[in-house]
Amino acid sequence: MEHFDTIVVGAGVSGLTAARLLTRHGRRVLVLEARDRVGGRVSTDHRLGRATDMGASWIHGVTDSPVAAAAEAFGMRTVEFTVGGYQPDSRPIAHYGPDGVRLSAEAAASYVADIHAVDATLRDVVAESAPDASYGDVTEQALAAQGWDEERTQRVREYLEHRSEEQYGAWIDDLAAHGLDDDSIDGDEVVFPDGYDILPRRLAEGLDIRLTHEVSRVLWSPDGVVVDTDFGSFGADTAIVTVPVGVLQSDEFVIEPPLPEPVAGALTGFAMNAFEKVFLRFATKFWDDDVYVIRQQGPEGRWWHSWYDLTALHDEPTLLTFAAGPAAVETLHWSEERIIESVLEQLRRLYGDRVPKPTHVHVTDWQDDPFSHGSYAYMTVGSRTEDHDTLATPIGGVLHLAGEATWTDDPATVPAAMFSGHRAAANVLGRDVPIEDAWAERTATD
Ligand SMILES: Cc1cc2nc3c(=O)[nH]c(=O)nc-3n(C[C@H](O)[C@H](O)[C@H](O)COP(=O)(O)OP(=O)(O)OC[C@H]3O[C@@H](n4cnc5c(N)ncnc54)[C@H](O)[C@@H]3O)c2cc1C
Repeated sequence: MEHFDTIVVGAGVSGLTAARLLTRHGRRVLVLEARDRVGGRVSTDHRLGRATDMGASWIHGVTDSPVAAAAEAFGMRTVEFTVGGYQPDSRPIAHYGPDGVRLSAEAAASYVADIHAVDATLRDVVAESAPDASYGDVTEQALAAQGWDEERTQRVREYLEHRSEEQYGAWIDDLAAHGLDDDSIDGDEVVFPDGYDILPRRLAEGLDIRLTHEVSRVLWSPDGVVVDTDFGSFGADTAIVTVPVGVLQSDEFVIEPPLPEPVAGALTGFAMNAFEKVFLRFATKFWDDDVYVIRQQGPEGRWWHSWYDLTALHDEPTLLTFAAGPAAVETLHWSEERIIESVLEQLRRLYGDRVPKPTHVHVTDWQDDPFSHGSYAYMTVGSRTEDHDTLATPIGGVLHLAGEATWTDDPATVPAAMFSGHRAAANVLGRDVPIEDAWAERTATD
């Protein structure tokens, strides 16, 4: 059996960051990856001669982001796009009323002011919420405190429902009250016209990565680890397991002996979400210029309510919308044609016959992906914010969990994956190392 200093399970951004740091600091590292590519939930479709990011697209705020620093070091081109988080303003947004007519500037401003008023109340309500409160519970309290009529309340209620769905792929009553606490944006948001996947591909350079090696079992003891794959077993002194929460919770991935407390308890607080992307490319642009997002209010917007204008990425009229939460669950087994027709029907309510048939479409299917079981993890009702970090508690001195869900500050993101990989590498080494070593050309020890 081949033996290594450390085995990293999963070649997503978390695993690659950990593997690269350990390798840079003199460890013999093996990365085992089930897919036939690196990157995990950073995945770019390069067909059609353009990059379409099927997984992560945005850096949600470039300030102090390790992903922004790595992207710069790797020469990745970026395009500013500051509405990736579900903000109601900050860049031009075309808000359409329930009747399908665009709100006047004044009406939009008062709607946005209402959202900010509820958000201001919400901060205190969330801080004082009971441990078993849902995001739905706290938003209802914050809405009730405004004393508005039903129509005005309902517009903001919908917005908050959509925010829970679009940010966490979860219905508002399924998300913990604290589930959106760490949803902060520092600095501009950017996307990558040449694809996000350059990041994992560059991080992977020079590493010993075995693709299509699906891990079925991680056996750990004070003496080290044995990792079973469909290509045999590998041994190591330590292991870093970066598979998504959905895989950790599945029967196909066994950790033996089972995860101890407090890690096991923390893991039960998370669930993988339902969040899919729908890209529509058109021959002609039919929506207004200088609009970053089109948003639809009212019952017609229950599923399809936001369309992001990605035209600037490839100079081709392109809209991105999401099936998130209940919409993603209900359309899971729909054909691609049926999903597209449903989205177009909604767009035609706003733009009539000006909406042509798209020239190309892409629809993701992360919920059915056996190596993720969803797009990212969210906090279920009753879970605690610190459960994220608890997941990364070192186990028996030999086993470490990492990945987006194990990082408390902005979990569910690529930066969280990177920071968690860095922490795991430092835990294995028993000392801190600069995260920049993951992308620097040379390190002090080279
Ligand atoms: C649709 C979508 C949109 C997103 N949008 C954004 C965004 O705009 N901005 C942002 O910052 N983040 C976004 N994210 C989240 C971001 O992509 C993830 O948080 C991040 O990529 C997770 O990295 P990771 O290394 O923790 O996990 P992963 O990337 O999932 O890596 C884990 C790896 O483990 C492998 N694996 C699984 N099971 C096994 C097994 N049994 N054996 C061996 N290997 C296994 C997987 O194949 C995978 O490669 C989005 C994600 C999705 C899906």
